[in-house]
Amino acid sequence: MTGRGGNTVRDLRRGSRATVLRRLYFDGPLSRQELGALTGLSAGSVSNVTGELLADGLIEECGSVGSDGGRPRTMLRVAAGRFRLVGVDVGETQVRVALFDLTRTELAAGDLPLSDRGRDAGHVAELILAGLADVLDRTGTAPEAVLGVGVGVPGIVDQGAPGTDGLGIVVHGQTVGWDAVPLGRLLRAGTGLPLFVDNGAKTLGQAEMWFGAGRGARHAVVALVGSGVGACVIADGARYRGATSSAGEWGHTKVHVGGRRCRCGARGCLEAYVGAEALVERWGAAPPGDEKAGLAALLAAAEAGEPAAVGLLDEAAEYLGAGIADLVNLFNPERIVIGGWAGLLLGPRLLPGIRAAATGYALRFPYEHALIVLGTLGPEAVTTGAATLPLSDFLDSGGQLPDRSHLSDTSE
Ligand SMILES: [Zn+2]
Repeated sequence: MTGRGGNTVRDLRRGSRATVLRRLYFDGPLSRQELGALTGLSAGSVSNVTGELLADGLIEECGSVGSDGGRPRTMLRVAAGRFRLVGVDVGETQVRVALFDLTRTELAAGDLPLSDRGRDAGHVAELILAGLADVLDRTGTAPEAVLGVGVGVPGIVDQGAPGTDGLGIVVHGQTVGWDAVPLGRLLRAGTGLPLFVDNGAKTLGQAEMWFGAGRGARHAVVALVGSGVGACVIADGARYRGATSSAGEWGHTKVHVGGRRCRCGARGCLEAYVGAEALVERWGAAPPGDEKAGLAALLAAAEAGEPAAVGLLDEAAEYLGAGIADLVNLFNPERIVIGGWAGLLLGPRLLPGIRAAATGYALRFPYEHALIVLGTLGPEAVTTGAATLPLSDFLDSGGQLPDRSHLSDTSE
């Protein structure tokens, strides 16, 4: 049937565009010859596809390199300038909204403080929309240039039916009191831009796997240690999601039967022993209100040798090591990356204790093949990861833009 044949040709062409665009994005600049060798596409296909991408303004030439006496080879790279990405990190103490160019250079960002740990989802949506309008306004960015808004949230994300323009996105955030929050609908009321929402640990995981400490690993776990604790499990190069996208809720694995009450309502969860909120609460001597200042004060007290602080952090290292040993035994990762603002703040002090505990708790053979490292993208990696959600969609589509005709009708 002709319709089918037409689709197949179109799919192939889109597939080739996606392959070339991805290669240039992650490994560029590259010459056409290198692209051919890396993608397996013929010289003719590479020439056609790069010609199209150049004409669309998605890639650009960036000089040339000599080649053993032959003609110099023109280098190609993804054009950073034409499009923008928005990443949003919904934390428990603040909402961060950042605007990036296509190569992840941050052009503007805003931190909007939360006073109620983000329990009022309507207020969080208002802050996201206000932050979005602010970064676009400050940089003079037209909505047409924005590929999409990616949002990382502290909860389980149900994406709803496909093709509903984000309207079906619902978040179940048990620890922050979000009971089936229709975040897609709340955000869609204030913006016409394409929306992408995922769990914050999963956006952090994508960022560290693409650009940070996870790069090159096929089997990995990226752990987010912030106010709460989560993880992103990478199995054979892909994120493992489970039946309803909640796989990787590592913070709520049980490390102490009948132990401390967790924010999820259960007892003995890992998060109740190593999450920043729990640590600051247990220490008790922190200045009230500011969790980040509280954790920094706890760390400073431990560095100064204060016994209560030293004991608390030693215990946290052992619990984290035990939790990581469980990850090693369950998933057999080659790398475990510890990220999140609290994980990175405490990491340099805790890492030796974490490794010592994991050595004792994990099965020997898988542990010998697993590396425990700290994330390399900094405490804002959830925001960067959120921006990779629209970026991933853009690369998968081979640089095809969604229909934006409705944008001119929507006031931004
Ligand atoms: Zn829990």
